[in-house]
Amino acid sequence: MSTLELHGVHAGYGKAQVLHDVSLRVGDGSITTLLGANGAGKTTTLRAVSGLVRFTGQILLDGRQVPAAPDAVARLGVAHVPQGRGTIGRLSVDDNLHAGALLRRDRAQVRADLRRLRELFPVLAERARSQAAGLSGGEQQMLAIARALMGRPSLLLLDEPSLGLAPLVTKEVFVLLPRLRDEWALTVLVVEQNADLALRVADHAVVLESGRVALAGTAAEIAGHDEIRRAYLGN
Ligand code: ATP
Repeated sequence: MSTLELHGVHAGYGKAQVLHDVSLRVGDGSITTLLGANGAGKTTTLRAVSGLVRFTGQILLDGRQVPAAPDAVARLGVAHVPQGRGTIGRLSVDDNLHAGALLRRDRAQVRADLRRLRELFPVLAERARSQAAGLSGGEQQMLAIARALMGRPSLLLLDEPSLGLAPLVTKEVFVLLPRLRDEWALTVLVVEQNADLALRVADHAVVLESGRVALAGTAAEIAGHDEIRRAYLGN
């Protein structure tokens, strides 16, 4: 588990400024959801944390500035599951899982984690030798999450895990998050378009609008907010 803090973060792509003075806190062991319309800057926020987008301002992990290079951020215990899964399609399920543990030296613990993940996601054991590309969307999302967990992160960044999944499968993924948080000692920051589902699972929520934090609070507070209900929950 780790605490993530952003203080006055500005980030963008070349001259296109996307994030404007973003400050937010993701508490140790919490599940926080980052909500907002298309293009609000949710993905850019995760990419700034992972060292994939340059930023100004401060991004702190447990009070220490995160490095600006993705490898170094990963070594600090940050795992990023990007939109579109982040599995290597032509590799087998098992090879994908092993790739997630490449930075680790504790081989016995790696084997134990692999066993735990196969228990948690039986399909990954059943399809161990299959190419990742042949899995269903939901199975690929499970694999992407399992692969991230193989790195034993303390902070898991999940970018729109529901993208392209059927509603029931999306629900399965979200319902898992509190269990993963507890059993794998994680702090979770999850970007989601399906605000209704995300707010049911998350402890806290942050709403971005045009690259600025429009609202932040407990998931219950945000779910009860009239504007949010109208804009994102359709009632
Ligand atoms: P979505 O749900 O559509 O992914 P988002 O809230 O995650 O939205 P971002 O992906 O962070 O939003 O995009 C924010 C803005 O940055 C958008 O206007 C987008 O067009 C722009 N943008 C994103 N990636 C790039 C890039 N690589 N180069 C230039 N502009 C980009």
